Amino acid sequence: MEGSGAEHRQDGVGESDGLERLWTPHRMAYIKGESKPDDATEQQCPFCRIPALDDEAGLIVHRGELAYVVLNLYPYAPGHLMVCPYRHVADYADTTVEEAVEIADLTKKAMTVIRSVSGAQGFNIGMNQGAIAGAGIAAHLHQHVVPRWAGDQNFMPIIGRTKVLPQLMTDTRDLLSASW
Ligand SMILES: [Zn+2]
Repeated sequence: MEGSGAEHRQDGVGESDGLERLWTPHRMAYIKGESKPDDATEQQCPFCRIPALDDEAGLIVHRGELAYVVLNLYPYAPGHLMVCPYRHVADYADTTVEEAVEIADLTKKAMTVIRSVSGAQGFNIGMNQGAIAGAGIAAHLHQHVVPRWAGDQNFMPIIGRTKVLPQLMTDTRDLLSASW
């Protein structure tokens, strides 16, 4: 599993939680300030930019009509994904009925798919609305779906030390996308 994976550039999106990780290739994008504009216009916004990429490069799991599903580049747990409207909208209250329904439907489907692929035992689901609430990219709303397992707090450092996360992210996307 060693070797040429770095040639495949993944251009995902996510928010740092301030925790240390050993996944150096993925941290580099954050260190360089990519994917986290301070004043996200639509041109700079990663959630607007990602859908133009191919699924593998953007870590896109599924494309819906009004919203899409993408892996978080800084996952709290393997399979941590986000449901985002295509439209550059910050406030959940400003979504159309159709957008809100599709975000809800994709969130439900994501739970089903993650359970079938990985046997997740629980989930944390939600949105951070506004920078004050912890949204790293506040200008474009996104719903987090974080699978949880008993003992998952011990699982992540083990993954980090093996340095296989870039491959794992690709595998995770392949698994979820194929099962969608
Ligand atoms: Zn946007």
